[in-house]
Amino acid sequence: MYYGAAYYPEHWPRERWETDAKMMQEAGINTVRIGEFAWSLIEPEPGKIDFTMLDDALNLLDSYGVKTLMCTLSRTPPPWFYEKYPDSPNVNENGRQRGPGHRYAICHNHPGFIKESKRIDKLVIEHYAGNRAIAGWHIDNEIGSGNSCYCNTCRKTFQKHLKEKYKTIDNLHQKWGTHFWAFSFSSFSEIPLPNNGNGANPALFLEYKRFLYKVNVDFAMHRYSLMKKNDPDKWVTTNFQQSRPDHTDIFDLSKALDINGTNFYPNGAHEFGLDWTRGTRGKVLILEQRSGAPHWQEETEPGMMRLWAWRSIAPGACGINFFRWRPCRWGQEEYWHGILPHSGRKTRRYDECVRMGQELKKLSPVIEKTSPASDTAIIMGYESRWAMDAVIAGRNAGHLSVLSEAYKIHEVLMQKNLSVDAFDPHEDLSKYKLVIAPRMYLVDENIKNNLTSFVENGGILCLTAKSGTVDECNTIVNAPLPGLLSEIAGISFDHYGALSKDIKLKGNSGVLKSQDLCASHWADEIICTTAEVIAEYEEGWHTGIPAITCNSFGKGKVVYLGTVLKEDSLDVFISWLMELAAVKSILETPEGVHAYRRTCEEYALTFVINYSDEVKKINLDSEYENAATCEKVKHISVEPKDLVILKR
Ligand SMILES: [Zn+2]
Repeated sequence: MYYGAAYYPEHWPRERWETDAKMMQEAGINTVRIGEFAWSLIEPEPGKIDFTMLDDALNLLDSYGVKTLMCTLSRTPPPWFYEKYPDSPNVNENGRQRGPGHRYAICHNHPGFIKESKRIDKLVIEHYAGNRAIAGWHIDNEIGSGNSCYCNTCRKTFQKHLKEKYKTIDNLHQKWGTHFWAFSFSSFSEIPLPNNGNGANPALFLEYKRFLYKVNVDFAMHRYSLMKKNDPDKWVTTNFQQSRPDHTDIFDLSKALDINGTNFYPNGAHEFGLDWTRGTRGKVLILEQRSGAPHWQEETEPGMMRLWAWRSIAPGACGINFFRWRPCRWGQEEYWHGILPHSGRKTRRYDECVRMGQELKKLSPVIEKTSPASDTAIIMGYESRWAMDAVIAGRNAGHLSVLSEAYKIHEVLMQKNLSVDAFDPHEDLSKYKLVIAPRMYLVDENIKNNLTSFVENGGILCLTAKSGTVDECNTIVNAPLPGLLSEIAGISFDHYGALSKDIKLKGNSGVLKSQDLCASHWADEIICTTAEVIAEYEEGWHTGIPAITCNSFGKGKVVYLGTVLKEDSLDVFISWLMELAAVKSILETPEGVHAYRRTCEEYALTFVINYSDEVKKINLDSEYENAATCEKVKHISVEPKDLVILKR
């Protein structure tokens, strides 16, 4: 199993390298990520290439059993590059140029950058292809980060992209509705970039997002092809930035990867990101796992570096790469702490690293064969996020965003110890019993067909408010809502709006009947066509309007949640959904303890993680084997901030 850290030999004197290599070996580290910001190291002057320092570092590490995950490096060019191409920095929304000394300060569409970045990445790939010290390849760093650009080159390239897509300007007018606020063009060359703050045309905003992400995917795909051509036996990865940034459709980007990778920085990162970046691939490599505190955040509590790393492995991580081995003494990230402190001494996080290294050495063979087996999925489209971001406004906006809805639902599913996959709505849904689609705002024919066939074949689909509102151009549908999903949902309505106060609901089904339910922030005024009412509003002028409905369609059912449920109510609603779909918790656990499961053909592993400060005793549902001690157990005691892995 991959176990390592981000390592920057260029930050430390050569005399230190051997000490680091020995310490890594002692900790069980088998691979380090190297090189993503090393362009000025290997090409200090234009055309003067020198790999000596990296070569020496790689060879030394290899002699201690530490392989390298080699990064390409072109998205952070050296200062000479900016001198040579003064119009190459990317330009922010306010027209300000960025420049050297920052990451990702370059325009991806600049012809000089395209040419020189392909040259330098090709040199790195050709130089290290076939090298026995290289474990795999990493395409640059955080692809998509910081490359929104509003320069003239980007504008012209965007116009070309639109012309190829829409063919004629009249076609674009029809799709975009440009007669609003005198926004019709006489030619593609008049189309601006959406850098005028709020109020950008929704279709323009969505197309610019699509354009940017395709630039990122093309960038990665070019490097992937070079790696596969020169070093076909090595795997390729890169680090997605969890689920929060929406700059790139990671599922499209993953076509340029053999293994999905991600950063994971608890507590700031939402756990949804682990399931989201794993997608449908069954595994994800954590390429930046939090060790010390990022910048001036709270210090990592003793024990938590190890526990968070296990938290990543439990639902499918195939390896851990801590960020980072040792914090730099200079530069913008001098306070982004690592396993070692600034002094480079062995302290408590190094001890945790050693402990985890020993545990992985013993348990990797058992864990590596397994992957999560979920019958529940959350589907969420980047296009829905982009489309809604273009228009969302008002004081309830934060509660209505696609991502916040996904986070809330995921959190409840985690509280209930459910294994969850999360991915794009175009993917195959046939293996799932329950699919929840938070705020599926943009629905095209492909999404509609995919959801319809899932339900027809017996699946339980849950839609939430604002579903099916716009088409693929971010234009509101010319039909009652939820648009293309009206038939399968068995509902049809035209009115909706924000709620100025919370409203009580009356549940009519199962566990919803006996619990207090409360709606907030939003109400779709649902009219049932074939659906039955599961809960309705009980206060004010909304009284009697359905808030939750359920429609039988084919062999399955579509549940529609037309409001935002308060925390406790969402919990009850998810319990009701689980019952409807017959999906079950992995294990009953006390408060502060969560269970995760990975399976293979021969056995299942249940990771029981105690996040609390107390010892927790758990009676198991049957006899298991403790994977670490091989004892047979029917009940376990989990120490504070610790875990037990059960095998059955
Ligand atoms: Zn640009």
